[in-house]
Amino acid sequence: MRHVAIVGSGPAGYYSAEALQKSLGEGVRIDMIDRLPVPYGLIRFGVAPDHQSIKAVSRRYEKVALSPGVRFVGNVTVGRDVSVAELADLYDAVIFATGAPDDRPIGIPGDDLPGVVGSAAFVGWYNGHPEFAGLDPPLDVASAAVIGNGNVALDVARILSKTPAEFVGSDIVSHAFEALGNSAIRDIHLLGRRGPHQIQMTPKELGELGHLEDSLPKVDLADFPPEAEDSALDPGQRKSVTHLREFARLEGEKRKTIHFDFFARPLAIEGDGKAERVIVERTRLDGDGRAVGTGETYSVHAGLVVSCIGYKTPPIEGVPFDEQGGRFANQSGVIGGGLYCVGWARRGPTGTIGTNRPDGYEVAEKIAADFGEGGSTQGGAGLDRLLEERGVDVVSFDDWRRIEEAEAARARPGNPREKFVAIEEMLLARGR
Ligand code: NAP
Repeated sequence: MRHVAIVGSGPAGYYSAEALQKSLGEGVRIDMIDRLPVPYGLIRFGVAPDHQSIKAVSRRYEKVALSPGVRFVGNVTVGRDVSVAELADLYDAVIFATGAPDDRPIGIPGDDLPGVVGSAAFVGWYNGHPEFAGLDPPLDVASAAVIGNGNVALDVARILSKTPAEFVGSDIVSHAFEALGNSAIRDIHLLGRRGPHQIQMTPKELGELGHLEDSLPKVDLADFPPEAEDSALDPGQRKSVTHLREFARLEGEKRKTIHFDFFARPLAIEGDGKAERVIVERTRLDGDGRAVGTGETYSVHAGLVVSCIGYKTPPIEGVPFDEQGGRFANQSGVIGGGLYCVGWARRGPTGTIGTNRPDGYEVAEKIAADFGEGGSTQGGAGLDRLLEERGVDVVSFDDWRRIEEAEAARARPGNPREKFVAIEEMLLARGR
């Protein structure tokens, strides 16, 4: 019997478990270790609450979780409750699928002012991540700036724009639902340091902005290259740019406006003891498509600034780290010494949820090939002994299913669940 520990129970973790089962069949036991008492990582805490069809992929992970030979070992922090060296000793292989949950800092003057938050914190707040549930972002302001032109910036702008009725069917947590319902924000500036052709937004998600109940996207066609140049774009990007051009034709009066401010590089955030404006430099593209400053600056009024410029993986003691890349040091998923990594912890924070699937399969194949003779590790039995000695309150998958039931039972009408946002509440909801 082979024993594998997977650290992290998000998409990359579950695809790896699925792949290991396919390649090793009944000869493998898998423990999915998560620092939280609830599984699914990015699906629960990253994917926007109004994108339930994307979240539905967790049903596929549940199948894996319920299959024989796979355990969920929740509420256990690797590096605190158990060390990497101990895991390496107990298991034949350890896979890090810890994602990239930390914000990459924007690093401009004023980025530490109250009212400036990173997307991990802001998204964690509206998705009920225990670490960020108390964020309390300022929404009593007229104008917000969202830095970045990726899908996360798009999620944040959309969530700031929606009416309460547009959240029916979502699993947005009550504290965010109520705060957003009372929000005074009328103008949302999406600050992109490059132009319309360089956005990192996917067409389906971008198109949604054209159909919001009380919010209109606004673009300035003067920022666009001649329309004929769109044909050189790849089909997905062309679709996105077509959406942007269509936004210019939208008419009508709505309460909120999402301004696409292109060629706008944030230089500093200013204000009297809190964020009040972003100082922006107008840019242009150089021959390689990079943003270069023109020296012309202006200011964008913003009492809330959400920086959506990408994420990084937090290091774990005992796992070699690539500081530059903000992920574990690895060669195609192999760290060395029986350690592997997958997903964003391997590649950095790019790609869709499905991108993690081939990644998991590749690493599973490598692990199967690396297994020599032997297989004398203790696996989960050894881990259980250690955690019991240390008094760690471990959450099982059965426990999680009771938590899940309790969350469904207290959902607002029309919504799938009302998440518990405090770890103690989650532990209590196990009912044992
Ligand atoms: P992303 O796609 O890499 O976008 C990051 C954005 O931040 C880019 O527009 C980038 O501009 C900008 N940026 C980076 N550093 C900056 C700086 N110092 N100043 C100003 N702007 C800066 O990252 P993301 O939006 O965090 O998304 C992460 C991944 O999750 C992506 O693969 C995304 O597609 C995926 N995702 C998917 C969905 C969905 O499918 N519904 C939802 C959310 C996230 P440059 O291009 O100029 O570098």
